[in-house]
Amino acid sequence: MSHSPILADLLLSRSTTDRCAELRKNPEWIAGALKDPSTLFICVSNSSAPVNESELRFFALEEIPQDSLTYFLGREGDVAFFGVSVNTDFVSAHDPDSWLNLRVSGSLLSDRDAGLLVAAVALDNWNFTHTHCPRCGTHTVPNEAGWTRRCPTDESIHFPRTDPAVIVLVSDPDDRVLLARQSRWPEGWVSVLAGFVEAGEPAETAVIREIFEESGIRVDPQSIEYLGSQPWPFPNSLMLGYQARALNTDICVDGEEIVEAHWYDRDQVRELCETQKLHLPPPVSIAHQLITRWYGEKLPSNTSFR
Ligand SMILES: [Zn+2]
Repeated sequence: MSHSPILADLLLSRSTTDRCAELRKNPEWIAGALKDPSTLFICVSNSSAPVNESELRFFALEEIPQDSLTYFLGREGDVAFFGVSVNTDFVSAHDPDSWLNLRVSGSLLSDRDAGLLVAAVALDNWNFTHTHCPRCGTHTVPNEAGWTRRCPTDESIHFPRTDPAVIVLVSDPDDRVLLARQSRWPEGWVSVLAGFVEAGEPAETAVIREIFEESGIRVDPQSIEYLGSQPWPFPNSLMLGYQARALNTDICVDGEEIVEAHWYDRDQVRELCETQKLHLPPPVSIAHQLITRWYGEKLPSNTSFR
């Protein structure tokens, strides 16, 4: 079976807009762009933004609340894009049914809009949860067009937190795939295993550690292959996709995070999905793309979970 060298179709890894990072440090340019009538604003609340027929709804300056927290997202031609954090009152006043979570809209939007929205959601979630200086406790202020926060007491600069996590398609010597159910998921929901990279830990070591902790499976270190990454800003993960080959097949789940795990061949995946006995993660997730790559073709249509 031939495989592409790296994952295609990572729906939250699409981006066509030049981020123009150098302009973030130019407050005069940013102030001018904010007032420019051609500038487009993407309003974000709780990982959601309004979508009309697969297109992001953009707002004009006069439509967004005064003193909103804004993030310069980049430029396309002469048009600048900004993200804007808005509250639930704003959502209620602007066709609330059209506000879709990025987990849903990520598979509907164009490359440009998906890329813009992922950045806006990541910055909104970070600014919302990281409001004080970790050194001295002072309330920090937005800096560099929303991409950092500055402490006015000790002048320290704080960057958006991004937590790396590994997600691994494990197969056995018969090329069966290891799929597991998390304790908080209902019966039949399964995915590949994943876990956060710990402090001071290389990602490849995290692959070996997480798979063993959660399933009792030892993977061959020589078989670990990196396949691509996707931001997962709910609230601040970066998923690093891998595949690895198991050295043993006796599964022993941890019973806490993972309550069951089994090996499946392709015929079983097809049959169990078609009969709705197995539910796989939605196409917007890197897990779906890892499983698709192993399966070798589009997965059977099925009610994905979430
Ligand atoms: Zn401080």
